[in-house]
Amino acid sequence: MDISILYRGSLKSCNFNCPYCPFAGKKMNRQCLEKDQAGLARFIDFVADSRHHFHILFTPYGEAMVHGHYREAMVTLSRLTQVKKVAVQTNASFSLTADHWLDRLNPDTAAFWLSWHPEQMSRSRFEKQYQALLNKKIAFSCGVVELKEYFHDISQLRKKLPRSVYLWINAYKRTPDYYSKQDIEQLIRIDPYFENNLFYYPSKGRFCRTGQNVFSVNETGQIRRCHFVNQILGNISSIDFGQISRATACPNETCHCHIGYIYLRKLHQQKLYGSGMLERIPEGFIYQQ
Ligand code: SF4
Ligand code: SF4
Repeated sequence: MDISILYRGSLKSCNFNCPYCPFAGKKMNRQCLEKDQAGLARFIDFVADSRHHFHILFTPYGEAMVHGHYREAMVTLSRLTQVKKVAVQTNASFSLTADHWLDRLNPDTAAFWLSWHPEQMSRSRFEKQYQALLNKKIAFSCGVVELKEYFHDISQLRKKLPRSVYLWINAYKRTPDYYSKQDIEQLIRIDPYFENNLFYYPSKGRFCRTGQNVFSVNETGQIRRCHFVNQILGNISSIDFGQISRATACPNETCHCHIGYIYLRKLHQQKLYGSGMLERIPEGFIYQQ
């Protein structure tokens, strides 16, 4: 079976201080970090012993790649025959040199989802980070949550990026009608798929691929269909994904997060992203403006 896993351990900490974020500046004590590390080690062992093929995306609460155990997990998983893809959502502040981890990544299976926070990291530093991935031919997408004050930064970043790199823009949804029609038109010129991220999609009763061949797994091995539905389907220590795989409808009223709604059948996002679903790279993307 081909299985996509959204992995979220017990990490709840970040080295950045984005004012709107509950994990900003939070630190974890040693005991909590060890618990997270042990859970990740069990997950890697499970994947290594499995007969299935995996596409894995790390979706931490906070920032994972400042921690050695996540960098090593990327390296190890990228080199397992069971792993077709291992990607991570990160603020791009990771070390480029620690333990030569980037050199040891398998560029055929590793990928990155880089979130840029212009008030936390200069554009030149962000460029240096993604340039290291370009040099190593490691796939990545990058983007920002679009607050209006970032518009100039985003335009400049788009100009600098190679055309083959997709720059996504996440809509700021906390303030209703935050964008004018003109804003939206301008943003679509930078991210042609920006509109996909603008909505809360009605999802109750609509078929969603999560629970069938996409699952969420946490540090204790508990399996859920996605991060947004709390029902536990089993544990990787005792259940085979083949036993729990079902084509079912979403129980929630709406879905608005990219890592969720892309699996709603009615949105046909698989067709857009193809093999780049997890790292958010539209198939064959070339920036056209
Ligand atoms: S980088 Fe991400 S996780 Fe860290 S504070 Fe900012 S929004 Fe939160
Ligand atoms: S539509 Fe969203 S909330 Fe509903 S099951 Fe799918 S991913 Fe989960």
